[in-house]
Amino acid sequence: MSKKEHLHHLASLLARHATIFRCPVCGGAMNMAGERSLSCTAGHLFDLSRDGYVHLLPNAKPGKYEKELFAARRLINDAGYFDLLLEHLFSVINGNIRPDPADSLALLDAGCGEGSHVSALQAKLESAMNQDIVAVGADLSKPGIVTAAKRNARAIWVVADLARSPFRDQAFDVVTNILSPSNYGEFRRLLKPNGMLAKVVPGPEYLREFRQFLYGERARRTKAAEHTAALFAKHFPGMKQRRVRYEAELEPHHLEAMLRMTPLSWQAAEEQVRGLLAHSSFRLTFDFYILWGKPFIG
Ligand SMILES: [Zn+2]
Repeated sequence: MSKKEHLHHLASLLARHATIFRCPVCGGAMNMAGERSLSCTAGHLFDLSRDGYVHLLPNAKPGKYEKELFAARRLINDAGYFDLLLEHLFSVINGNIRPDPADSLALLDAGCGEGSHVSALQAKLESAMNQDIVAVGADLSKPGIVTAAKRNARAIWVVADLARSPFRDQAFDVVTNILSPSNYGEFRRLLKPNGMLAKVVPGPEYLREFRQFLYGERARRTKAAEHTAALFAKHFPGMKQRRVRYEAELEPHHLEAMLRMTPLSWQAAEEQVRGLLAHSSFRLTFDFYILWGKPFIG
């Protein structure tokens, strides 16, 4: 797809689904204004990017290392290390949502990064439900969204602040929030009454071999996962959870990317990091909890 075609495609996708949005400045309803901008009823204008996304953040401040971080994440996601997690996440969503056959199912990934996960979920749900899925990926980081939009023109990609997200009340059937901070108040506001939130948090053994090698410790995260689950359950009282744990042999050319995309390497001594990267292969534990719930019980 050329940039011009990509832009035209995004404009028609947004025109069809404009009711998902609300203005991030005034909260007003949004619609397409011509082919190049999304506009609210009060006239606040948001231009579509030629890279195929829409910027709905009034004041963006791009981070310095984000490009490298998202390149590393993209490499690791493409290599399939998160496939098993995504398969479980898909089955949780597919088993708990009752889509309205008269309407498209709307899915938001809040904190989508470079978009691999929501793109995979969109494809799985479309083939399982045999209907169009309106997939929206939102992230505060512009480099993440740019990477995402280049890869998948079938989803709507938005640079946005998830604390004050540019989506109207009850716009989504499903909100996912994968290894990314939550704003439960906003998630409740965005979900349809019979919708669901599915959140992925690291389990206690996630990347434990890295922690062991770099810091000589293990299972530090137990309390963090428990704390997150308790907070989730406070906002979504019918919460359920599933643990997904597996090990994978990391290929040498994936080892550095895997290490760089986690905060674990940031405070480690350079000598330890070099020692770790010298391995010809590395067995690593992936451990997650999928937490899910509905905004209303019943
Ligand atoms: Zn406005």
